[in-house]
Amino acid sequence: MQHPCFNSEAKSTVARVHLPIAPKCNIQCNYCNRKYDCVNESRPGVSSTVLLPLQAVHYLKALEAKIPNIGVIGIAGPGDPFANADETLATLRMVRQAFPDKILCLSTNGLELAPHIDEIAEIGITHITITINSLRPETLAKIYRWVRHNRRVYRGEEGGKVLLEQQLACIPLLKKKGITVKINTVICPGINDGEVEEIARKTAELGADTMNCIPMYPTENTEFEALQEPPKALMKKLKTDIAAYIKPMKHCARCRADAAGLLGKDDAEAMSMIGQFSTMVVNQGEGRTRVAVASHEGLLVNLHLGEARKVYIFERSANGYHFVEMRNTPAEGGGTARWEELAQKTLIDCQAILVAGIGQNPMQVLQQNGIRVLQMSGLIDSGLDAVYLNMPIKTLCRSEYTKCGDSCRGTGSGCG
Ligand code: SF4
Ligand code: SF4
Repeated sequence: MQHPCFNSEAKSTVARVHLPIAPKCNIQCNYCNRKYDCVNESRPGVSSTVLLPLQAVHYLKALEAKIPNIGVIGIAGPGDPFANADETLATLRMVRQAFPDKILCLSTNGLELAPHIDEIAEIGITHITITINSLRPETLAKIYRWVRHNRRVYRGEEGGKVLLEQQLACIPLLKKKGITVKINTVICPGINDGEVEEIARKTAELGADTMNCIPMYPTENTEFEALQEPPKALMKKLKTDIAAYIKPMKHCARCRADAAGLLGKDDAEAMSMIGQFSTMVVNQGEGRTRVAVASHEGLLVNLHLGEARKVYIFERSANGYHFVEMRNTPAEGGGTARWEELAQKTLIDCQAILVAGIGQNPMQVLQQNGIRVLQMSGLIDSGLDAVYLNMPIKTLCRSEYTKCGDSCRGTGSGCG
C-alpha cells in the first residue's frame, strides 16, 4: 500500500482520513484561526467537530464501510497532535489495533514531538509531516505570535528559536527510526517566500525525504488576513527551486483536519457522519481488549509490578491467546503520575493486568482507570483464562517459580 501524499501514483486510488482528536495548540501561527463548523473551507486547522479517541475508532469503522479504499489514517489537528499527546497516542494505539494494515501518519508543528518519537515508532507510525516556515529568528518572529514550551510562553525571536530548535532536532531522530519525513512550508508572501530554498537545503541535509510548499490562505480574524494568497506562478517556481535539494511534493490538497476521501476529492457525504460520533457515549472499558502481564520470561506471572521494567501484552483471537509485544513501563519515581501514565498510555488498550504483587496506590490508580488487577502466581495462560473466560486461576506452588523475596516485596499473594 502506498501513501497518497508521498506517492502521486497512489493519489487517485488510495484514500486518507484525518481524525480530528487534537483541539489544543501549543503555538499561535499568525495565519491560523481554528474555528470549527466551517464546512466550506478546506485548509489545515479546520474541522467540523472534535472526537474523543474511542469515538474516532467507531467513526473510522463506519467510514470504512463508505470509503473501502482508505489506506491512510492521519492526525492533523485541528490543533497540534502533541499539544494533545495523550489523546493522540491513545487514538493511534487503538487505531493500530483495530486497523493493523493501514498506514498511520501525523502532521505536527514539531514543538513537542521529540519526547514521543520512541513511542510513535513502537506504535508503527511511518509518515510524519513537520511544518517549518523559516530558519531565521527574525522571520519566525513575524509568523508566530507565541510559542508555549515546558510551561513557558516565548514571544518574538526567542519563541522562533525555541520552536526551530525542536523541529530540526526531530528530523534525524525520526530518520533513525526509519520514519518518512515530509516538511511543510506555508508560503506567506513578503514574509518567508524568499527563504524556501534554504529550508529545503537544511532539512534535506538532516535527512528529510520530501517537501511541500503550501500557499498561505488569508483567514479572517488573523494577523495575516490582509496578506494576499501567493500566486500560482510563485508556488510553481518554488516547487521547481527546491527540487535541487529535496523531492518536492506537487499534489498537496491543503487538507482539513477532518478530511476523508481521495486527496483533493473529499467524500462530503461520508464526512458528514462525523457529527453523530462526536455525541456518542463511549464506555471507558470499551476498546480495551488486551491483557498485560508482569513476567520475567513470558511464561509465568512472577513479577511484582513495581519491579517490572517491561510488561508482556497478550490478546485473544479465534486461535487462542497470542503474544503481541513487550512494552516499557514508565520510569521509577513520580508517584501517582507514574501509575497514571501506565494506565492511560502504556496499557491504553488493556482491560486487565496480571501481576505477582502490587502496591496499594498503583492498584487503586489502575482500577480507577478501568483496568482489572489480578494478583496471582502461575502460568500466564491460567490468568488469561480467568480474564477472558472467567475461569478460576490455577496457582502454582510458590517454590516452583521463584524463591520468596526474589520478586515480591511482601504485597503479593501467597507470601506466608
Ligand atoms: Fe494552527 Fe497548526 Fe499553527 Fe497550531 S500549528 S496555530 S493548529 S496552523
Ligand atoms: Fe498524513 Fe499529512 Fe497526508 Fe494527512 S495530509 S494524510 S497528515 S501526510
